[in-house]
Amino acid sequence: MKYLNKRNILLIVVLVFAFSSIVIGAEGEVNLYTNRHYDTDKLLLDKFEEQTGIQVNVLKGGSDELIEKIIREGESTSADLLITADAGRLHRAKTKGLLQPVENETLFNNIPKNLRDTENYWFGLTVRGRVIVYSKDRVDPSELSTYGDLTDEKWEDRILVRSSSNIYNQSLLASLIAIHGEEWATEWAAGVVDNMARKPQGNDRAQATAIASGEGDIAIMNTYYLGKMLNSSNPEEVKVAKQLEIFFPSQETTGTHINVSGIGLTKYAKNKENAIKLMEYFSSVEAQEMFAKANYEYPVNPNVEPSELLSSWGEFESQDINLSKLGENNTKAYMIFNRVGWK
Ligand code: FE
Repeated sequence: MKYLNKRNILLIVVLVFAFSSIVIGAEGEVNLYTNRHYDTDKLLLDKFEEQTGIQVNVLKGGSDELIEKIIREGESTSADLLITADAGRLHRAKTKGLLQPVENETLFNNIPKNLRDTENYWFGLTVRGRVIVYSKDRVDPSELSTYGDLTDEKWEDRILVRSSSNIYNQSLLASLIAIHGEEWATEWAAGVVDNMARKPQGNDRAQATAIASGEGDIAIMNTYYLGKMLNSSNPEEVKVAKQLEIFFPSQETTGTHINVSGIGLTKYAKNKENAIKLMEYFSSVEAQEMFAKANYEYPVNPNVEPSELLSSWGEFESQDINLSKLGENNTKAYMIFNRVGWK
């Protein structure tokens, strides 16, 4: 009994408490893998916990990294939910067998049909547009019209856009395939390549910077990057963004290309019931405003107004297709980019 001194007894008591609280705590907790990294998300999760008593554990990572992690973990994955950007990526998670369908009236009511998977494997939570951003000094918005118009010779050496290896461009082209067919989409991609100001390089923000430095006059970009740059802590980014304006293409015709960040229940979720409660919460009026605002995106829930900045950009018509098409046409888009030499 020489080990049963005061210090060791205290240690044992502490260990027993710690262990039991882990076991009790783990019961019903929801594990969320997410590419989001906003302080406001933490506030939302605290509110959710307050209302439901369900604790949420968050693992943050890059979108592709998290998908790879869930593949590696297989049946023993601790992820109940995956949040990632782009319908093309959500579709990839679905086809790789990482997700399971959710039949849920609250989600069906809060999230428009075109912004969720046709078989309910994933649900959009926030919307972004892939738009044309232009130089206020060098471009008159009356020159701009449709995505198709970007192949016009007036844009020769003036278009900035990132590489085709990026999912945002793959999804944009996938949407154009869905709307206009493969032949049209191939000619379009080839025409844009002809008008590029430089070889594709950098991310969306880098295209904005290249407009400011005069390398090109218009860029294909996601809406939220302009919001981020306008509100950046880096004065250089603010300066760049102030020289730019957003144009929503194809308003009179097929609508502006939109995409989502979305959520899916993992196939091997251990806490299915509570995970679905969290999905419902994210789609609710209470959560949507804050959730979308954090990344300068539009809420999916039609009962929630976009933030002031986004409202100031005006309302716009979006493409009238189910976003599942973006994933379904991804391979075709990839092949077209290769064929036309869009690096
Ligand atoms: Fe992004």
